[in-house]
Amino acid sequence: MSVPIVVVGSVNADLRATVERHPQPGETVLGGDGTVTPGGKGANQALAAVRAGGRVAMVGAVGRDPNSDAALRLLRSQGPDLGAVDEVDGPTGVAVVMVAASGENAIIVIPGANATVDASAVERHRDLIEGAGVVVCQGEIPVDGIVQASELCESAGGRFILNLAPVIEVPSELILRADPLVVNEHEGALVAAMFDAGADTEALEADPSACVDLLMSQGCRSVVMTLGSKGSLVTVEDQVRAIPAERVEAVDTVGAGDAFVGALAARLADDGDLESACRSASGFAALTVTRPGAQASYPTAEEVAAT
Ligand code: ADP
Repeated sequence: MSVPIVVVGSVNADLRATVERHPQPGETVLGGDGTVTPGGKGANQALAAVRAGGRVAMVGAVGRDPNSDAALRLLRSQGPDLGAVDEVDGPTGVAVVMVAASGENAIIVIPGANATVDASAVERHRDLIEGAGVVVCQGEIPVDGIVQASELCESAGGRFILNLAPVIEVPSELILRADPLVVNEHEGALVAAMFDAGADTEALEADPSACVDLLMSQGCRSVVMTLGSKGSLVTVEDQVRAIPAERVEAVDTVGAGDAFVGALAARLADDGDLESACRSASGFAALTVTRPGAQASYPTAEEVAAT
């Protein structure tokens, strides 16, 4: 069976703790919350792509432990095809998210099963990836797994979307295969520094448009840079266009970037126009920041249709 959108990426269980302040080394502090919610950039983007109207399959891995149920809860009930999410020995990926009263987060990511999504694991799902019009990867699985997915996608004539978050060391050919490369302003500056070790990352982060220009001058096919409440930048031919964010009452922006990428993939699978896909992704992401949580904040297909 071929599916138009395949997300190759991470699946996590996110454990959230609220703390008055972050503990010092050697110190124990009491915290609140303690909920375990589904997360992982791959899983978030796969769910967002479904909610934005896409037909989606996910390639990834979970461990044989109780956290896998927590990680897959929303994906199982209304999400993508999970036939290519392998069950492997060892733990499911976990993110421990500590949110201090100041709003500052400290996050520990334990890759667990996500570390097994390497080139050979991706190769096992070759048919699924080759059958997709759009393949999406992020930076939370091994580099050789991402490279393999991109090569299978490209040789089958698909469109490869790379959301290099977090920024990890990857071969420049991988970045140049992305159409688009999706990054926020901070990630964009780090990617620019991969091409040009002398790049002033602080200056580039402060001037997103110059950063996009630099990435294009290095040979990127297209770039989308998300800028939170300031919207996003998108390249059309060689020009950079600004897409404003919707004005909304933001209560929690966690997972907004993933919502944007998932919705972008859903639109690009229907119609290749990047600028209109970004406008649509921007509307979808704005809906998610008005409610708490990552996957839990993603609007349903009915809510999307009503906008
Ligand atoms: P990331 O979390 O990856 O840094 P961003 O914060 O840039 O991602 O958010 C991704 C997209 O979500 C933005 O480009 C914008 O379209 C939308 N978005 C994020 N924050 C807001 C906000 N406060 N108001 C409206 N839209 C937002």
